[in-house]
Parts: sequence; structure tokens; C-alpha cells
Amino acid sequence: MTDTNKVCDLCGLTVEVSGFTLTTKEGHKSFCCEGCKSIFQLLNEDQLIPAASEQETDINSETKS
Ligand SMILES: [Zn+2]
Repeated sequence: MTDTNKVCDLCGLTVEVSGFTLTTKEGHKSFCCEGCKSIFQLLNEDQLIPAASEQETDINSETKS
């Protein structure tokens, strides 16, 4: 089985260009383009694990899970 092709975690299209990826609490996400990546970031801000954070965010609000 050749399962090398990833699909965009936002729109479901085949990811032909690697590089548009994000690390989240649920794992590694791949996207087909910068646009999908940006939208996913906006929709899942609380899920993202930033590679390098300049400011440490407060972990007081745990209303969402
Ligand atoms: Zn996409």
C-alpha cells in the first residue's frame, strides 16, 4: 500500500508541497497551502503548539477541551 500522499487537514485536497505544517496537541497537521494553514491556525488556536513562543501564555482558561 502506498500511503505517502497526505491530504490537507482543512480542505482535504492532496498535499503536493510539504512545508505547510503545524504541530498541535492532536499531532502533526499538513496543509495544501499557506491559506489553509492560516485558517486552521485561526480556528484551532488553543490546539496549536508553537515551535518558539516569545511569550508564555497563561494556562488559566481550560473551559474548552
Ligand atoms: Zn487545503
